[in-house]
Amino acid sequence: MINVKSAGEVEVMARAAAIVVDAMREARRRAEPGSSTAALDHAVRKTIEGAGARPAFLGYMGFPASSCISLNAEVVHGIPSPDRILVEGDVVSVDVGVLLDGYYADAAFTVALGDGAAELLACGRRCLENAVAQCRAVNRLGDVSHVIEKTAQEGGFDVVREYVGHGIGAKMHEEPQVPNYGLPGRGPRLVSGMALALEPMVVTGDWRTKVSGDKWTVVTQDGGLSAHFEHTVVITDDEPRVLTRGWEEFV
Ligand code: MG
Repeated sequence: MINVKSAGEVEVMARAAAIVVDAMREARRRAEPGSSTAALDHAVRKTIEGAGARPAFLGYMGFPASSCISLNAEVVHGIPSPDRILVEGDVVSVDVGVLLDGYYADAAFTVALGDGAAELLACGRRCLENAVAQCRAVNRLGDVSHVIEKTAQEGGFDVVREYVGHGIGAKMHEEPQVPNYGLPGRGPRLVSGMALALEPMVVTGDWRTKVSGDKWTVVTQDGGLSAHFEHTVVITDDEPRVLTRGWEEFV
């Protein structure tokens, strides 16, 4: 069943989302050669807890950190570590979730340290923006999925199939699943009050992934680069409301 949120629930999610963006800003500020990924994560945790909220990922199925930080061929679910030192040229994805007053918000960005991967990053952002634009009550979920796949492929890239976006609200992962590929005109109809975490994962090579030895970090099988962008979006009777809007300014 797909939960439809009340206006009051959406406002709590919007407050959670503002904390997500603040935490992402702090992570972005520290994403430079010489920093450890744990230093970014520490800033994320401090920002979230300082705002009176909880890091949604910390302890989730045993995940040991407040953010997922995934480098280069890592797609998602990278574990921050004091031993993981960023270097020039790294492609750094930061994924942050917040729980506030019983509701979740979730977002992610990717940056390159240096000039690399510019086309991949631009394409990933285009995928997300085009997906947001499809979040209208006249559309079906397949319209959102399809435009992500189409945008990635038009850019010369592909999308990961094995991990998907999701409904979000009183749980971090709610129905429906939001694949980054699909057919237009298919799937559930979007209705006002639905909240979706859209999260295209765009890769330079083949889309197949595997889970690495730490049991969390998802990497591309062929070692190709990956970029991940995510917004928490609410369907309205009019324009989609992007609750996590704001990270674009510092990414
Ligand atoms: Mg998510």
